[in-house]
Amino acid sequence: MSMKPPADEPQTNFIRQIVERDLAANKHGGKLVTRFPPEPNGYLHVGHAKAICLNFGLAREHNGLCNLRFDDTNPEKESAEYAEAIIKDVRWLGFDWDRLLYASDYFAQLHDCAVELIRAGKAYVCSLSADDIRRYRGTLTEPGKNSPWRGRGVEENLGLFRRMRDGEFADGEHVLRAKIDMAAPNINMRDPTIYRIRHTAHHRSGDRWCIYPTYDFTHCLSDSIEGITHSLCTLEFEDHRPLYDWFLDALGVHHPQQIEFARLQLTHTITSKRQLKKLVDAGVVDGWDDPRMPTLSGMRRRGIPPAAIHDFCERIGITKKDSWISMDALETCVRNELNRSAPRAMAVLDPLKVVIDNYPEGGVEEMEAANDPNNPAAGTRKLPFSRELYIERDDFMEEPPKKFFRLAPGREVRLKYAWYITCEDVVKNGDGEITELRCRYDPESRGGGTADGRKVRGTLHWLSAAHAKRAEARLYDRLFHVENPLACDDVMDALNPESLVVRRDCLVEPSLLDAAPGHCRQFERLGYFARDSAEGDRPVFNRTMTLRDTWAKLSKQGAKKE
Ligand code: ATP
Ligand code: MG
Repeated sequence: MSMKPPADEPQTNFIRQIVERDLAANKHGGKLVTRFPPEPNGYLHVGHAKAICLNFGLAREHNGLCNLRFDDTNPEKESAEYAEAIIKDVRWLGFDWDRLLYASDYFAQLHDCAVELIRAGKAYVCSLSADDIRRYRGTLTEPGKNSPWRGRGVEENLGLFRRMRDGEFADGEHVLRAKIDMAAPNINMRDPTIYRIRHTAHHRSGDRWCIYPTYDFTHCLSDSIEGITHSLCTLEFEDHRPLYDWFLDALGVHHPQQIEFARLQLTHTITSKRQLKKLVDAGVVDGWDDPRMPTLSGMRRRGIPPAAIHDFCERIGITKKDSWISMDALETCVRNELNRSAPRAMAVLDPLKVVIDNYPEGGVEEMEAANDPNNPAAGTRKLPFSRELYIERDDFMEEPPKKFFRLAPGREVRLKYAWYITCEDVVKNGDGEITELRCRYDPESRGGGTADGRKVRGTLHWLSAAHAKRAEARLYDRLFHVENPLACDDVMDALNPESLVVRRDCLVEPSLLDAAPGHCRQFERLGYFARDSAEGDRPVFNRTMTLRDTWAKLSKQGAKKE
């Protein structure tokens, strides 16, 4: 769960070292070509961001090239919608590719490679059923058995493979397999399947093919065709590397180097497209881009800036050992970035009316509010102030405990960027609910201080009633309440029932109506919020993150600094 300390310089890692060593030794002609190869069967998630930053980042640093390639060989699960979403997400992260490619564009070439393997006696058509193939494969402790079809002659294999391609057989009737070694200790080397029959239209090649190459066959050859030098993938492919190498050696083609690194495993979420799709299909989230999803589109909608994701990926580093990263680490990167980049704004989530009795009726003044109190260069904006205001309901208590330094009967507080006010009376309705506070302001205290230097501890956010705009706030929290949801019998049981709280009757300062979707502001004292990309009858703001670090510190100090 550890996270490396912040680094000004990119940290080195074993892959960067290999790349630098190869470049220095002029291996591959001194070139670096990487690729990011998603399968378009879902939306990209934060785990993919790690692979994207690694592949595109290395190419960028070393003057190399990086392709975006769709590994689209499972027509049943893939779609153009997914491919488009992936393109958008990679761009959003700030990367551009040398070439945008689809493994399906290589179908003809891959087919020719398969024919070449058959001709060389290195592949055969197997007519065992899927179950029998599995049975013949053996186990980790027992060797497999040769298929009875392993001895088919080249001509027979060529003929059958042609007929497979021409659609003469049903799904599953035959497969094409590599002829390697049924007794190999590595099960992946026990005559793996190269081609299977699928009478399914493909989202790009349509009905042109009814046989589709497998991942292992497609992947290494696509890398080779594109002149990839370093093929970076996650650790689960380590056992596939001998096969990757075998195909390329058997065909005598350009041979990229496969290097594996550890997947990102992040607590309190799921980094698997297949599992995320279940949440979407079950309707427990509002689509792939629900702001609680760890997808790049969800994070964008939530208001997380790409810079925070880059920072996170840099800090977690690249290793060869699987480990868990705490969600706190990502949240810290998001807060750091937003603290730096998000301008301030005023909003009141649960409004309570305040009337300033000694303020002129109908009077309006423009208060000067800093866009970023830590950075005068960010400038100021005008906030209208008038006789009727709204403050946060929980900033008032009729009978406050000792350490409550906000507003209470007879207490004085500072309204940020404005005046000191003192509560003089509490108005209630028939049910005893507080509906309004009657207050007085001190005209000497404009800007938040007085000549007598008297102490006012609480500083509240506020909005002018006549100028504030109605808005909806969606308060998001972690989607899961356990560290590893996939360890539960049913992931649905691990969902955090409070991952979304909707506040329909919020108020925001008028300038927020112009906020661009996904662009984050710091709502003073409340957290970071971004305008939603889709909204109904009123503007919607998604809470990106609370200011929790600040709150945690405050509660330790007994709320002294409020
Ligand atoms: P998923 O299980 O979510 O579908 P995948 O590995 O099957 O993941 P691909 O679309 O095949 O998804 O992945 C594209 C690239 O992203 C691969 O090179 C893969 O290794 C990498 N990748 C996927 N998930 C992670 C992760 N959690 N951490 C790092 N890299 C990842
Ligand atoms: Mg995959």
